[in-house]
Amino acid sequence: MSRRTKIIAEYVWIDGCQPTPGLRSKAKVIPGPVRSLADIPEWGFDGSSTRQAEGHKSDCALVPVAFVPDPVRGGKHVLVMCEVMNADGSIHPSNTRARLRELAALHAKHEPLFGIEQEYTLLVHGRPAGWPKKGFPAPQGPYYCAVGAENVAARTLVERHLDACMKAGIEICGVNAEVLLGQWEYQIGPVGALEVCDQLWLARWLMCRLGEDLGIEVSLAPKPVAGDWNGTGAHTNFSTKAMRAKGGLKAIEAACKELGRRHDEHIRVYGADNDKRLTGLHETCDIKTFRHGVSDRGASIRIPLATAKQGRGYLEDRRPAANMDPYRVCAALLETVCG
Ligand code: ADP
Ligand code: MN
Ligand code: MN
Ligand code: MN
Repeated sequence: MSRRTKIIAEYVWIDGCQPTPGLRSKAKVIPGPVRSLADIPEWGFDGSSTRQAEGHKSDCALVPVAFVPDPVRGGKHVLVMCEVMNADGSIHPSNTRARLRELAALHAKHEPLFGIEQEYTLLVHGRPAGWPKKGFPAPQGPYYCAVGAENVAARTLVERHLDACMKAGIEICGVNAEVLLGQWEYQIGPVGALEVCDQLWLARWLMCRLGEDLGIEVSLAPKPVAGDWNGTGAHTNFSTKAMRAKGGLKAIEAACKELGRRHDEHIRVYGADNDKRLTGLHETCDIKTFRHGVSDRGASIRIPLATAKQGRGYLEDRRPAANMDPYRVCAALLETVCG
């Protein structure tokens, strides 16, 4: 018998559901401690249960690509982000990380940084947390960044999640209550392309997992409630070395021009049902229009005031929906801006 203390590795991967892929995970007991990726064995799963294979040839491979301490189980346990491969080792069509891996290497000289604002809506028995059983709460206005039981719902999960992300070493940089009661946001970054995406998927996994304990469901639906209620987005903040350097505003303006040219291509990978969110009535302009501007929260791309003032910094792409796949969004930004 091995004398190495065993640990639990929770393997996390993204399934083949369309149009919006989901998270899956399962646990493997392995000899610890895990010091590097080499200590985590490759694994597999039944792809026919995750829309990733046909029943007669159902084995898919899980290749560990990143790991963090598991803040839920604690101890020396780990969460492992995986890429999905076919049984023969080739890249599975659902594996959107593989393309980003190539682009990140190709454009490494630009030193791109990303920060993603993940908005989400917490649901209890299928309705936004804090909403009455029937009908609607008071109109939007008091809920954004609110304090007090009359205007805040489900903060317990938000705080547990923040704590868990920090314990896992995820670069979470803030949280806030959003405009719709029961809607919240956390931000991750600024870090590199693969890091921000792996960390965002793990942060999403952690929130779903912690929600189980409280009977709270996490919705990334871009428009959780029809009508005069805010949608749910994933603003993606982006910069290159040139944008952050003296006179970087020029590079930011050039990037906006390119982004405008390829608006439709970006919208295609910015999340399903985003048309219900980008109506032009709430946040950002309508889905068919591209506009950029300083400090303009009605624009597709906002140049933050501090960036305009200092003449360097980053841009905020406000178009991605909450349910987007960050691997695809970051890949599109790298291709358009650095390509
Ligand atoms: P907002 O005012 O849009 O709500 P937030 O404070 O929620 O802004 O989010 C700002 C985001 O910008 C964070 O995710 C942060 O990581 C990111 N960010 C900050 N500086 C940079 C940078 N130089 N490059 C890319 N992203 C950045
Ligand atoms: Mn924000
Ligand atoms: Mn927000
Ligand atoms: Mn924002």
